[in-house]
Amino acid sequence: MAIDAHPSPTVQPWSDRLRHSAIILIAAALALSVVVSLGELSAMRAVAVFLCIAAAALVPWRLHDTAASRDDVRRINPVEGASVAAVVSGMPDPAVLLDRAGRVIHLNAAAAQLAPALRKNELAQFALRSPEIITALREAIATSEPRRADYLDHVPVDRWMELIITPVPVPTSFGGADKCMLMTFHDQTPLRRVEEMRADFVANASHELRTPLAALSGFIDTLQGQAKDDPKARERFLGIMHTQATRMARLIDDLLSLSRVELSAHVRPDTLVDVVPIIRQVADGLEPLARERQVDVEIDLPEAAVMIAGDREELLRLFENLIENALKYGASGGRVIVSLTMVTAADGSPEIRVMVRDFGPGIAPEHLPRLTERFYRVDVGDSRSQGGTGLGLSLVKHIVNRHRGRLLIESVPKHGATFTACFPQAKPPALS
Ligand code: ADP
Repeated sequence: MAIDAHPSPTVQPWSDRLRHSAIILIAAALALSVVVSLGELSAMRAVAVFLCIAAAALVPWRLHDTAASRDDVRRINPVEGASVAAVVSGMPDPAVLLDRAGRVIHLNAAAAQLAPALRKNELAQFALRSPEIITALREAIATSEPRRADYLDHVPVDRWMELIITPVPVPTSFGGADKCMLMTFHDQTPLRRVEEMRADFVANASHELRTPLAALSGFIDTLQGQAKDDPKARERFLGIMHTQATRMARLIDDLLSLSRVELSAHVRPDTLVDVVPIIRQVADGLEPLARERQVDVEIDLPEAAVMIAGDREELLRLFENLIENALKYGASGGRVIVSLTMVTAADGSPEIRVMVRDFGPGIAPEHLPRLTERFYRVDVGDSRSQGGTGLGLSLVKHIVNRHRGRLLIESVPKHGATFTACFPQAKPPALS
């Protein structure tokens, strides 16, 4: 968007000027003919006088036109050419062209949307009001070198923009070039978010590893000191150390699995696998846990094979996490249902849904959107005491995504939780 702030100066139309001149000439002709008829002036002299009056009436037109066009040129900004405006308008990022005083010459739609206070012919400094930007602009003008500054926008959501001010010589309509400042804004918000997530992840992972490590080294000290000759205490401490070491190993396992799935996220698995035996294998493996927690596991699977394009190992991890969570956190319900159904999704495509439902305490609605974040737990103490790492559901979501599926989480507090992994049905192999 380039707004034209300089309408061309108003010039008197030709018809008006013609009328004025005609009136002058008719009046002069009438007056002269009266004077000639009275014998006060010879006809030759009257013609000469008429020609002088005609010249006087017509010459100012030309002068006026020349003056007006000079005035036009003076009033129009020399770098306000349509081509310069088109270049600024065509830039994908917010862009503003300023004159050497910092006054806005052109701005595109993205810049007008980002900083609505920016107006043509007004100083950008007034609109942006950031000391950092004002300093950068002043320095860019003074040194003719590019400068950068940060621009933080809070409305409607926080956005971090990098502002680059580049001095550019812009050709003028008088010939030569005028030094202007091109200000472009680059959205750094996604990079910033990733950087924050990375820092959070490293902090969380080291905290999770440090906790069992601190317990292990504490018990080693105790075993080397007071408990050295106490076989009973040694036995108990070794048991705790084993649990802590297992927790560390599990955490490292989950971290590695997560990074493996992330690395291959863009490659959809292409091997056809039958999900029914995979679910059965997981349920069988978790039978001891179900017995220990006194939970009845009901398995409702079709007899026939159900094929999806999938990675067997990843599917094992996925169902293991969902069923184990149901047994750990939903144990109080005493019942877990694992079922597989084939449905038609909203877009009409066939879908395979594996549902794990428990009848435990459920999950409060405010936690649902965050459950698949790394290290997010509803109750950290509860998760740790169950040997949880806080990475299970994050891993589940990544695996489902890699299989181009969806994870649905529903819960009614006090009535249990349902986790459903949806997969697109594998297309039958093409007949050759
Ligand atoms: P964790 O290793 O802690 O189990 P997950 O990512 O698997 O990590 O789960 C995240 C959190 O979600 C758990 O700590 C628990 O608070 C909650 N959660 C998961 N499954 C259930 C469930 N079936 N019922 C209630 N809460 C659950």
